[in-house]
Amino acid sequence: MDTIAQQGMYPEFPRCGKEHARSTHYCAGCGHGIANKLVAGVCAELDLQDRTIFVDPVGCGVFTYYYWDAAHVSAAHGRASAAATGVARARPDAVTIAYQGDGDLGAIGFNNAFQAASRGEKFGCIFINNSLYGMTGGQMAPTTLEGERTTTTPFGRDPALTGHPLHVCEVFDRLQAPVYIARVSVADTRRIMQARAAIRRVFEIQRDGGGYALLEILAPCPTNFGMDPLKAAAFCMGEMEREFPLGVFRDTGKGVRGNGAAAENAQAAPESPFLAVKPVPRAASCAELFAEPPGAEAPPPANDPSVPERRFKFAGFGGQGILSLGICVAEAARMERRHALWFPSYGPEQRGGSASCSVVTSGTAIGSPVVERPDVLVCMNLPSYLRFAGDVKEGGAILLDESARDAPPPPPGVDLITVPAIRMAEELGVPKAANTMMLAALRKYSLTGLDPASLENALAASFRKKPQLAEKNRGLLREAESRLPDRRGGAD
Ligand code: SF4
Repeated sequence: MDTIAQQGMYPEFPRCGKEHARSTHYCAGCGHGIANKLVAGVCAELDLQDRTIFVDPVGCGVFTYYYWDAAHVSAAHGRASAAATGVARARPDAVTIAYQGDGDLGAIGFNNAFQAASRGEKFGCIFINNSLYGMTGGQMAPTTLEGERTTTTPFGRDPALTGHPLHVCEVFDRLQAPVYIARVSVADTRRIMQARAAIRRVFEIQRDGGGYALLEILAPCPTNFGMDPLKAAAFCMGEMEREFPLGVFRDTGKGVRGNGAAAENAQAAPESPFLAVKPVPRAASCAELFAEPPGAEAPPPANDPSVPERRFKFAGFGGQGILSLGICVAEAARMERRHALWFPSYGPEQRGGSASCSVVTSGTAIGSPVVERPDVLVCMNLPSYLRFAGDVKEGGAILLDESARDAPPPPPGVDLITVPAIRMAEELGVPKAANTMMLAALRKYSLTGLDPASLENALAASFRKKPQLAEKNRGLLREAESRLPDRRGGAD
């Protein structure tokens, strides 16, 4: 059996932020992980590792330079096609492959990519379409489906407000220069095999100096779809393929003409392996899939100038539930009809390195979600404390996990409270619930200015789709609170 190294990947990924040095940073069920493996495998199989220069994007795919054993150039957001143009022109003998997501290529970088395709630059562009911005928290992308809920289209994408999904392959297929344009998927085994064949075609074209090639890969993003991996894959094969049909739009080397729909190419390329793939039957409409669960609607905020503004910062490692903890506090404020903003840190660090988010709650409209001087800082580790403690306002408070040993004193006038959040979560048999332990501390020490019941209800609401976990976490919250001392020194 091939080792990972023989398949074109480094044998270990020590810098990607996960404890296990052979795990990638991608979420479970993410299409990027499959696409990464296919790209690396094809590159190795064609013996092109020493000739290949990958141009890496900004987005969830940014860490490809940690995984693919070949040369890399890292581009600014949306600029991978522009950088690939430079690489391909400077090194015409290289196999140049740009790897881009739909926010990267379809939005900020669309003109770069489109003009490079129009000029027929000699590189291959692998374009991951998961219908939203993954890394930055699931905002609407140009490819977002009508009715699809994202963090910036919480009621579903409305074409009257935000337009229709952008069909990148179809648009590029109006150009003269590209030699290859195709769309595949990695949502099931059969599609993965077809995707592999298409990736191989992109590499072969570059190896042979053929010209510009675009391969769009439909990929599930379970995290931001808010679905488990199986449902996310079904969404990809159903709703996404209905909007973005799979197929070869053009392959001039194989006599497939361009400037037509993929379906027309069915006649031109009857041997195409893509033609047998049909979208899975419609299980539910986009609106149904993304419908708000009953009881989730909240009334609009009441304007009450007597309620002061509070600013919070939450920080720790990715995977410690930092972002969820911030959402919980914001949601509790929303339940009390306060204005609330939640602002996650942007960056690939969300997937395993350090993570942080800001929350602002207020009785009146909030001007900015940016928190430079928090009233309350919650830190799950020492690096977060060292980074943010100096920003806390005089009179404010810091909750710090006890694992952050040797923390320097807080700034004058700031209350430092050590909380055994990680240890308590482990003792309670739920190591992932350290964030709930911190919520218990916020509640016990009255640091949020919110009703304790709202905090508990917000915690339960975060498990709407798994009611059994909602009850369990209510219990954990109460238990943790009972274990925390009244005086702020440490747990029993
Ligand atoms: S957020 Fe989405 S695209 Fe990003 S790694 Fe997770 S599943 Fe993949």
